[in-house]
Amino acid sequence: MDSNKKGFITRSLHTDFPKEDAYNALHMPVYDGVAYEFDNAEDIAETFAGKKFAHAYSRTSNPTVEYFEKKLLSVTGAYSAIALASGMAAISNVLLSMVEQGGNIVTSNQLFGHSYALLKQTLPSLGLEVRFVDMLDVKSVEAATDDKTRVYFFETITNPQLEVVDLTQLSQLAKSKGVAIVCDSTITPPYVFDSKKFGVDVEVMSTTKFISGGAAAFGGVVLDNGSFDYSKLPALEEWAPKFGKDALMARIRKEIFRHLGGTMTAHTAHFMNLGLDIMPLRIERCADNCKKLARYFEKHDRIADYNYPGVEGKKGFVLSEKQFSGKPGAVMTFDLESKEACYRFYNRIKVMRKATNLNDNKTLVIHPESTIYAEFSDAEKKDMGVRETMMRLSVGIEEVEDLISDFEQALQF
Ligand SMILES: *Cc1c(COP(=O)(O)O)cnc(C)c1O
Repeated sequence: MDSNKKGFITRSLHTDFPKEDAYNALHMPVYDGVAYEFDNAEDIAETFAGKKFAHAYSRTSNPTVEYFEKKLLSVTGAYSAIALASGMAAISNVLLSMVEQGGNIVTSNQLFGHSYALLKQTLPSLGLEVRFVDMLDVKSVEAATDDKTRVYFFETITNPQLEVVDLTQLSQLAKSKGVAIVCDSTITPPYVFDSKKFGVDVEVMSTTKFISGGAAAFGGVVLDNGSFDYSKLPALEEWAPKFGKDALMARIRKEIFRHLGGTMTAHTAHFMNLGLDIMPLRIERCADNCKKLARYFEKHDRIADYNYPGVEGKKGFVLSEKQFSGKPGAVMTFDLESKEACYRFYNRIKVMRKATNLNDNKTLVIHPESTIYAEFSDAEKKDMGVRETMMRLSVGIEEVEDLISDFEQALQF
């Protein structure tokens, strides 16, 4: 069977189990235990020596988590996958495995807040250098690159500015400089974005968001597209000769992940397995809701402006059509006349919910300037494009009429 001929949902639903279940369960069971028994001394010794693979201890591998990884490979066509405890665990494991002390990462300051803090504080404290540039400007990326640059790290669509990176340009530059492209595609997961096609070497995601479905559990994933020559990275110099294409995953599995302990639990993997199956339906619905809300925002005189790269004429539209199948996630922003107006609107919403997080099934609203960005100075906020008149909306799967009528009543103040 050529699995690539089947659709995303079919492949996700019908990914085979490694072994037949004793009860013929139709879903992969949740293997919640910690340890696995071996038949004899030779078997356990060979497993520990890495001569054959068997699950031994669930911090390093677990059958239900492995099934989630297998499903991800089946739907994305990536070369290898590892699932971790959270999006932050995925990002930190990858960067710690690819960059040596004294090596540098070129990135953007338009990042998810905790990713920004990881790159600004934690990684430099471990001796990794991080250079912040405007990733939309390939010339400034090039100017920041030198012979110690190992990774370009960025998000496919920035949040909350909703700027879209030109992946073709960036990956051409990365190739010419021997730098690896690591991209966080949490906002545009597989199904709308095929990272291999756009020169991404390693894709990371918070599966807490779209994949879990309804914000059911924390999780993260690293997908290696198998396109980067790891012998170019000093951090992998001991791993590349032995493991070749698998060098990055080998170091993550056998060192960084194993030693830092960012394990996904079997229960979480079960949620992720269910969530992934229906993610395409949710994304279609969310993107459709976004486009309908955009039409409503166009006409409403209280909405000074709004942004969503899925709407013609908005910034990033052309790149979104090309890179994200015209369904660039479900985060929108809109501006009201003042911060006071934002607060008044916020305090009146009834169907939409007052919460942070993205890509819950429920529509979530937040005022970024006074919450996520509260610890930054006014100058930094300006630099990051965070206006006090701006609200961020993570659009869910409710009937759009109910969202519009919530806007209708909440904007009457
Ligand atoms: C939420 C998020 C993360 C972090 O993921 P967690 O699962 O919360 O650790 C990283 N990147 C982006 C773009 C996110 O939205």
